[in-house]
Amino acid sequence: MTAIPAVLTLRGVGPALAARLQKLGLFDLRDLLLHAPLRYEDRTTVTPIAAALPGAKTLVEGEVVLTEVTGRRRPMLVSRLRDGSGAIDLRFFHFSAALRNRLAPGSRWRCFGEVRASAFGREIIHPELEPAHQAVAGIVPVYAVTAGLSQRTLRRLLGQVLDALNPAPAWLPRLPPECLPASLHMGLAETLSCLHQPPADADLSALAVGSHPARQRLAFEELLAHQLAFRRQGRSRSEGKAPALPLAEERLARFLDHLPFRLTAAQCRAFAEIRADLAGTRPMGRLLQGDVGSGKTVVAALAALCAAGNGWQTALMAPTELLAEQHAHTWRAWFEPLGVKLALLTARTGARERRRLLAAVAAGEVDVVVGTHALFQRALDFHRLGLVIVDEQHRFGVDQRLALKAKAAGWIPHYLVMTATPIPRTLAMLRYGDLTVSVIDELPPGRQPVETRVMSQQRRPELIARLQNWLASGRQAYWVCTLIEESEALAGEAAEKTAERLAGELPGVRIGLVHGRMKGSDKETVMASFKAGDLDLLVATTVIEVGVDVPNAGLMVIENAERLGLAQLHQLRGRVGRGPGQSYCILLYRPPLTEAARRRLDYLRRCHDGFALAEKDLELRGPGEVLGTRQSGALQFKMADPVRDRQWLPQVRQAAEWLERHAPDRIPALLAFWIGSGDRYADV
Ligand code: ADP
Ligand code: MG
Repeated sequence: MTAIPAVLTLRGVGPALAARLQKLGLFDLRDLLLHAPLRYEDRTTVTPIAAALPGAKTLVEGEVVLTEVTGRRRPMLVSRLRDGSGAIDLRFFHFSAALRNRLAPGSRWRCFGEVRASAFGREIIHPELEPAHQAVAGIVPVYAVTAGLSQRTLRRLLGQVLDALNPAPAWLPRLPPECLPASLHMGLAETLSCLHQPPADADLSALAVGSHPARQRLAFEELLAHQLAFRRQGRSRSEGKAPALPLAEERLARFLDHLPFRLTAAQCRAFAEIRADLAGTRPMGRLLQGDVGSGKTVVAALAALCAAGNGWQTALMAPTELLAEQHAHTWRAWFEPLGVKLALLTARTGARERRRLLAAVAAGEVDVVVGTHALFQRALDFHRLGLVIVDEQHRFGVDQRLALKAKAAGWIPHYLVMTATPIPRTLAMLRYGDLTVSVIDELPPGRQPVETRVMSQQRRPELIARLQNWLASGRQAYWVCTLIEESEALAGEAAEKTAERLAGELPGVRIGLVHGRMKGSDKETVMASFKAGDLDLLVATTVIEVGVDVPNAGLMVIENAERLGLAQLHQLRGRVGRGPGQSYCILLYRPPLTEAARRRLDYLRRCHDGFALAEKDLELRGPGEVLGTRQSGALQFKMADPVRDRQWLPQVRQAAEWLERHAPDRIPALLAFWIGSGDRYADV
């Protein structure tokens, strides 16, 4: 299976259904196979209607004796179903004419749902229905579905795919016992059918939470595929050649002379490591890890200085427009005295300006290009790209890297990733196995830990009064609005409303607003006035999470803090505490607060170590949450959970080595199945 067939190749799947499947991320047959059920329902026994008790999820079967539409203001469909023992009502608040016709008296149905007591006896609201003659008994998987896609349809499609797996593909040869734990010895087809059509005696909760051997087997294989991909990525880097970018001592001294601060010892150490790498022709692959506010930006700028001094270009990728703009702003100030030329390119750069910049980049008239994703997705020709710097890598898919690859014609650029989210060890091994790590484990002098308080929304008036005093004393503050399932559009709206409300509550306070849906230039204007002190209070969505830097802003209020992960809250909190004096972070929550949420916020209150917080988050919420990678792909496992399954990591590594040595021909199919085209790991 090299090219995996699309869902459209299945019987009964047309463009409309395919579109719905895509909404769930199900594009091809592999995606379907790896769409693990959320839970399972035991439908092995049909209960006589008379014995169906309110409160229980029950399977009944009978004949329709009456179907009618009742209710004038809000019509609903009610069908009465009878078997030898009694009768029960099926009630539908949403229904189509087709359903009404199908539930004709005399038709026989198997129905599943929760039985409720009603005024007229018992009823099931919106039962799952199957014509009795087609019904399948047994353990039934329940999947995540979307509007217009029923459980039944999904089960039917999976049945089709599982049938097609016969004979079963097996990309793994027999692995020696030290590479594959004994409990995981089973075939892929066997594990997949256990997942979707478990036998009656299967441990269903173990299957649902992933501790069942069949799920563990799949997890192992997925981790193995990712490990192989990382290793390949690392090799492709070390085989290539990068330009040597040594830095002259007096140039470094000139740069440092113009800086408004002295580097910390940790910054010096990290840069010394980078500088040594860059001086050689082996492509650097380095992760620069340091807590929020530790000062990674200037270290990255020094790396760019190395490139520029040798006539090579640097690309700096930032996760948001706001951050790209800020980086461009600070770097420009640092670089100007040295004649290093910088261009800012974002999705919002106007067409003419873009053309001009692109031409300048291609001609080598620009030393450093700063931008967002857009920078890398569009056609961008570098004259001589020698260094790629990615800020806050966890916000990206790895995909963007490959766009650059082609652009570096013949040379492999050095590669530096800055991350403010300290990556927990277990994940670091998986994701950054191919990168060497430099750590900035020290904050610039004079920083005090941000005093963090947990406060109920009910005390908002008190908070407003305090905020008023704070602002009156000439200091600035942030007010962060958050939403669940954050869509920037909705969050933006919420932020607008909050800003209006605060304007009413805080007369005379100059309030600015930034959210992700604003035009880049507008955001920049607002940020610039906030930085310049022309605004007192900045109301924002979590777009300010990454990197924004205003030392005079020493107070942050985070609304609905209970909804965010610890690592994300810590990132936000890192925006304050950058100047002199005590800073505060107020975590506002909407009562009642669950015990778990209370404990989480309390942990944040006491802990100021981003690394420990990330580990805690991982323990509490899982990897996707920690790194905010819903869309990133890099850490999105379908079956594996690096925390739950970390016990297998040593064997995963051994199995990868074994396969490379003894069965390299099996690797492409394994990667194709688990990772897709494999491009996700293509390297710069
Ligand atoms: P992060 O590591 O979170 O990206 P930044 O690079 O944005 O942190 O640095 C945070 C703030 O600290 C910035 O205002 C920066 O100018 C300042 N800074 C960086 N290094 C030092 C230092 N050695 N001494 C004082 N301030 C510093
Ligand atoms: Mg930063």
